[in-house]
Amino acid sequence: MATDAGTKGCSGPLWCIVPAAGRGARFGGAIPKQYLPLAGRPLILHTLERLAAHPRVAGLMVVLAAHDRWWPDVRQVNGKPVRTAIGGSERVDSVLAGLRALPDEIDATQFVLVHDAARPCLRYEDLGRLIAAGTQAGGALLGAPLRDTLKRVDGHCHSIATEAREARWRAFTPQLFRRGELTLALERARSEGVAVTDEAMAMERTGHRPLLVEGAEDNIKVTTPSDLKLAEFLLERTL
Ligand code: C5P
Repeated sequence: MATDAGTKGCSGPLWCIVPAAGRGARFGGAIPKQYLPLAGRPLILHTLERLAAHPRVAGLMVVLAAHDRWWPDVRQVNGKPVRTAIGGSERVDSVLAGLRALPDEIDATQFVLVHDAARPCLRYEDLGRLIAAGTQAGGALLGAPLRDTLKRVDGHCHSIATEAREARWRAFTPQLFRRGELTLALERARSEGVAVTDEAMAMERTGHRPLLVEGAEDNIKVTTPSDLKLAEFLLERTL
């Protein structure tokens, strides 16, 4: 039989932290990529709408860069509250800022989602499956098994080895963890000077084994100008 500690947090209000404090250096350009027009609206609004569409999502905590002048200052999406916090120089700093700024009613045992602002094509069904499986498993993330052959290259893009692709997955967001456990894991990574590239990496380092939930590969992270065109194409097909 499940204990209180095991089940608590499964049915309470589920907030989503949306880190949006990146400069988008790989994308280039004057406007940060999360604010570029996508199907006529800033990219980040599509992301927020995809998240807020799910009935289990109670609110959105968007983490902005200090002096962000592009944020459209939305206060609610689909009837869900949107709050903001100020992020830091690394993604981990931004997610920690979002975790600290969550409403007090979200206690340490409750689950929170973290989703990149730059992933506007998240599918409703994938979000639902992540929430259902992740709350049962105690933590999870969307991802997909690697299907291509993986090469290791030298400094001149010459292939020097072929890596195993068995048991290798690509990690996406959203990722779902308990507020307290995620805060501890991210704080520990930061204090140890380890650059974690996602929340699951920090959790693995503290002994957790997050469940990978297979999601659609079109949950792309807009990183380059050609990704923006692809995202537009994908959104138009699912509007
Ligand atoms: O840089 P990358 O595309 O991996 O960033 C993923 C997400 O993390 C983006 O939505 C970006 O805005 C956010 N981020 C952040 N604070 C940082 C760096 C990235 O909120 N310091």
